[in-house]
Amino acid sequence: MTTIERIELFHVAVPLTAPFYPSWIPGYPQTESRFTLLKMTTKDGVEGFAAGNAFENEREGLGSLLGPYLIGMDPTDIPRVRQLLREASFLGWHNPWIEAACWDIKGKIEGKPVYQLLNPDLPDPVTAARVYASSGSIKPIGKRKEYLDRIREMGFSAVKLRVHDFDIREDIAVVEAARRHVGDVFVIGVDANQGWRVTLIDDAPTWDLERATDFGKACEDFGVRWLEEPLDMHAYDDLAELRRRMSTLKIAGCELNAGWHEARIFIEKGSFDIYQPDATFCGGLDTSREIFRACMERGLEFTPHTWTNGIGLIVNLHAFAAYPERRLLEYPFEPPGWVPEGRDAILEEPIGVSSEGTIAIPQEPGLGLRIGRKRLRRFGRRFYRMNTVKLAVNTIRKKGLRTALELKKKKQARAQSGG
Ligand SMILES: [Mg+2]
Repeated sequence: MTTIERIELFHVAVPLTAPFYPSWIPGYPQTESRFTLLKMTTKDGVEGFAAGNAFENEREGLGSLLGPYLIGMDPTDIPRVRQLLREASFLGWHNPWIEAACWDIKGKIEGKPVYQLLNPDLPDPVTAARVYASSGSIKPIGKRKEYLDRIREMGFSAVKLRVHDFDIREDIAVVEAARRHVGDVFVIGVDANQGWRVTLIDDAPTWDLERATDFGKACEDFGVRWLEEPLDMHAYDDLAELRRRMSTLKIAGCELNAGWHEARIFIEKGSFDIYQPDATFCGGLDTSREIFRACMERGLEFTPHTWTNGIGLIVNLHAFAAYPERRLLEYPFEPPGWVPEGRDAILEEPIGVSSEGTIAIPQEPGLGLRIGRKRLRRFGRRFYRMNTVKLAVNTIRKKGLRTALELKKKKQARAQSGG
C-alpha cells in the first residue's frame, strides 16, 4: 500500500494568442486558459496530476481543506478517494476533478494506462480516437465556411457548430449554410449550450420545448446527427419528450450534471441518445465509468465533454477509450484564440490531430500526461504545498502532541485497513 506524502497546488494561466469568445458565455472575451493544477506525490515518489478549470484564483484557500483530507490516504483506493472528496464538498468545495490524479498514480503503480483500468475487458489496446472539430464561438457564416475548409484539410470528417441567437431563423441559417458548404457526407452536430446558461456579460436565449422541437426538426432537414444540450440540464422530462419527437436527430447532454444520481434520472426517463459526462466536473472517472456501464447495457452512446484544457481532454480521452462502442470525441478547436498551442500549453507537446482525424491515446502507465516542467514554471504559480511532516507540525500546534499522535495512529490504521 502507498500513501500520499505531498500535495502541491498551482494557479495556471496561459495567455491565448487571440481573444476567444465562448458561445456559452455570450460577450465574454477569454484571454487566458486558466486552471488549478494538482500534483500529488506518494511516499514512493509516484506523481499524479489533475486539473480543474478556473475563472481566476478562486481556489486560493483550497489547500488548507485538501491537505488534511488527502495526505496520508491511499490514492489507489478510489472508493475511499471518492468518499473523502464528497466529505470535503460538504463545506462548499465541489472538486471532482481531483480524482483523476489518483487514477494517474494507480495506473503508474499497476503499469497500465488508465483506460485499461476503467475497462479491463477491452480485447486490445486502443491506440487512436476519432475526433470531431468542436467549434466554440458564434461566427459569421463566411468565417464559419473558412473554418470548415480548414478542418477538412486537417483531416476532420465531423464538426460541432454552435448556435445562440434569440432569433431561431439565424440559428437555422448557420446549420443550412454549413450543410450546403460541406456536402452530405460530413458529420454535423450542433450545440445549443442551454444546459447551464451563463449571462455574466450578455443575455442568452432560453429555449423551451417548442423552440427545441422546431430547431430539432430543422436539424433533421439538414441531416444533423446530434443536438447537444437543447434544454436546461435538469429538464429531464422535456428532454425525454424532445427525444420522442425526433425521428433521426440524436439528443445529447449530461456534460456538467452532478454525478451518477443525475445521469441515472436521464437514463431512466430516456432523455438522451448520447451521454457526455465530463470527468472533471461530473464526479470523476469513476462516475464516468458508472455512466458508461449503464450506457453499454442499454446500447446508448457515450462520448465525454472535453472542453477545458489539454489535461481535461486527456482525462476524458481515457473514459472515451474505455468505452467499447467508440464513435467521435470532442476536440476543442476555434482559431485564432482556442488552438492546441494554448489549450495544451502545459504539456510538453500539444495534442495534434492526424490526417485521418484522430488523436493518439496515451499507452504509458497512468494518464500519460507529459507535464512540461519548464512550462509549468512559466505559466504556473504554486500557491500551496503540504507534506506529512508539515501537516504533523500543524496538527501538534493546534491539537497538542498527545491528540496529534492519536490521530496519526488512527489515520495509519484506517489506510492499512483499506477504508
Ligand atoms: Mg456541449
